[in-house]
Amino acid sequence: MSHKITLIPGDGIGPELTEAARRCVEATGVKIEWEKAVAGQEAMEKTGEPLPDATLDSVRKNKVALKGPITTPIGSGFRSVNVAIRHALDLYACVRPAKSYPGTKTFYKNIDLVVIRENSEDLYAGIEFEEGSFGTQKLIASIEEYTKKKIRPDSGISIKPISRYATERIVKFAFEYALKNKRKKVTVVTKANIMKFTDGLFLKTSREVARHYEGKVIFEEALVDNMAMQLVQKPHNYDLLVLPNLYGDIISDLCAGLIGGLGIAPGANIGEHTAVFEAVHGSAPKYAGMNKANPTAMILSAVLMLRHLKEEKAADKLESAVKEVIAEGKSVTYDLKPTPADPSAVGTKEMADAIIRKIR
Ligand code: NAD
Repeated sequence: MSHKITLIPGDGIGPELTEAARRCVEATGVKIEWEKAVAGQEAMEKTGEPLPDATLDSVRKNKVALKGPITTPIGSGFRSVNVAIRHALDLYACVRPAKSYPGTKTFYKNIDLVVIRENSEDLYAGIEFEEGSFGTQKLIASIEEYTKKKIRPDSGISIKPISRYATERIVKFAFEYALKNKRKKVTVVTKANIMKFTDGLFLKTSREVARHYEGKVIFEEALVDNMAMQLVQKPHNYDLLVLPNLYGDIISDLCAGLIGGLGIAPGANIGEHTAVFEAVHGSAPKYAGMNKANPTAMILSAVLMLRHLKEEKAADKLESAVKEVIAEGKSVTYDLKPTPADPSAVGTKEMADAIIRKIR
């Protein structure tokens, strides 16, 4: 059966990486019709908008997309297109596996963790009040009136909504994922001791959901600051972590560090009807167009996509090929070499070529 997939190259290193991943997927023999759609810099240049409706419509129609990273200008310019895509398509679950591949430079061996990050709420909701604006002044006055607490008048404010609905949905997703993927333990990670009405609600709701899985999956609770330390000291004690949006973002980068860096950390954004597959890393603008960045994270995101499409054989073939190339350590990019300046490092395209040669 042929699949129709939306391909969003993104910007920065995105176009070279999505091209590498696309070629690898084709080499597995799976029949895919790619529908290219623009977002980010390329979309700005072509349409004047960072996220054209046509791009979202394409993903809605095809239900699956492979997406390159997109730059978010800091402090000014457009808001994150990445976050906007997740919100517009209600891709509420972000799944980020962190799995060791022998041959990577890392302090740890045999890591096999999954981070499930809530994707729709929290400080990423995009509800922000700029320092000095009329709305901010009014908000500060209301907060002072209701809480009797002082906020400095020159403050900017970001709102952190966490709902029972979205928490129930993500924690249920985490438990169902655990059952389906034979994971034994779900750890919910919050700062519920300090933010009682947001993280506290996340924890309370998690406990309620967990009751339905008693005897099937172990449930455990942790505070995010302690979790950061535990993951560095004893990462093998954990299996699947479920977290609100911001902690999920930070902890998944930490987990990428455990397995050898952002160059090999894949991800998926899953909703009720659609799924968008993308690496954990960003657009690394300093390497854009240099044929230097590691395509593995993007290729492993494509492996997740193939599994989502129930193309397990093709996914296994591609993952094994990646594993072999990393284990050999010859045709790999700079970040997988003993030192970044290693002259034997190959480029993005050459690493993808080596992976393709191993697909059988
Ligand atoms: P980044 O992940 O782009 O890069 C950080 C560093 O990690 C790079 O300088 C590089 O040394 C390394 N790195 C990242 N990807 C690599 C790869 N494939 N191979 C080898 N090394 C790699 O993070 P950043 O510099 O904080 O962000 C750059 C831009 O990307 C920002 O505008 C940010 O908002 C955006 N971003 C986008 C996404 C996304 O598209 N989903 C995710 C994170 C960041």
